Amino acid sequence: MMKRNPLVMVPGPTPVARSIQDAMGRETISYNDPRLVADFRVLLDNLASLWKCDGVTFVVAGSGTMAMEMGIVNVASHDDRVLACTNGYFGDRYVDICSRKGFETEVLRAEKWGKSVTVGEIDAKLSEKRFDILVLTHVETSTGVEFPLRDLTKMMRSSHPEVLVVVDGVASMGGVEFYMDWGVDVMLTCSQKCFGISPGLGILWASERAVEKRRSMPPITESYVDFEKWIPVMKDTMKYWGTPAVNMIWALCESVRIIMEEGLENRFRRHRAYSAAIRASLAAMGFETGAAEGVRSPTVTVALYPEGAGLDDNAFRSAVYGEGAHVAGCLGDFAGLGFRIGHMGNIDEHTLISLMASIERACIKCGYKIEPGVGLSVMQRALLEM
Ligand SMILES: *Cc1c(COP(=O)(O)O)cnc(C)c1O
Repeated sequence: MMKRNPLVMVPGPTPVARSIQDAMGRETISYNDPRLVADFRVLLDNLASLWKCDGVTFVVAGSGTMAMEMGIVNVASHDDRVLACTNGYFGDRYVDICSRKGFETEVLRAEKWGKSVTVGEIDAKLSEKRFDILVLTHVETSTGVEFPLRDLTKMMRSSHPEVLVVVDGVASMGGVEFYMDWGVDVMLTCSQKCFGISPGLGILWASERAVEKRRSMPPITESYVDFEKWIPVMKDTMKYWGTPAVNMIWALCESVRIIMEEGLENRFRRHRAYSAAIRASLAAMGFETGAAEGVRSPTVTVALYPEGAGLDDNAFRSAVYGEGAHVAGCLGDFAGLGFRIGHMGNIDEHTLISLMASIERACIKCGYKIEPGVGLSVMQRALLEM
């Protein structure tokens, strides 16, 4: 059989469109070549206006974890109290970053994997004593749980307006509804999730209030991720502080062009519709969703193996890979019990049909007797209704 690459359906990296690959493949020029300076300027302005950012938007080489670090160290000073919410693996990572930085960190944990810390719990905790910073994960990639961010920001505005809100939006930005004017102080993501680029760039949106907070703080111990070092570059892209990732910036320019062409609201709707179709199709094959009803994310799904299906985790995921789709294993409390699908960024109907077909064939080849087409027909019907 002809060898081909499997579809990349893990929660990052996601499929990279041809035109974005071409942008990365361009001949590299200097970061201060007027052509790059101009492209970088337009990019930062587009990122700011698309997500309604009144402060500073940053594009810095590094992975999502770097963006998480950058997001907290610039707004939390050493006598600040941090309330960190965690719904799973990446929430735990943010708790770890906060505690090893030495911030006085209290942790609010979801009742169990697949659930979310609630707005009510956060309100109660913030009412108990003084906190300066709230940290949370918009979409928790290990469970496929979407945090109710709109409700949270409304509650924060009315009940705790003095607390700065820092959000890990790595698995949501560019796929899930959000605008900075909801009242978030730092939102962050990276290139290889909903933006559909190779890994390599961190992107942060900081509110005017977050920028002011950093300005009011003494020098921080970090250098590379210091807002104060990068703000001059983001205000004047001729300036230098750590060589910008020239080709990645072009890739992000192209990604943002694709997003603007589709329209942000359309993109949000498409992600919701696709994720509902995937869940319905999986359900028809007997898989349950790891995330609880009401908090299921439009970008990542945990599919739990049906009881009694006799599917072995490693063998099943290898079979799906062999049938043409790369899905991810589960982490933490879900490890071994199911698999994860990243359905983010620049994917289309063909991607979904091929994905479900690969899963269906893998089920049958692994001895789980389902009728061929049982999941696909549900997907087809869902696509016809879009
Ligand atoms: C992927 C991911 C990260 C980590 O990003 P890296 O690029 O792997 O460092 C952090 N948070 C969430 C929610 C993620 O999905």
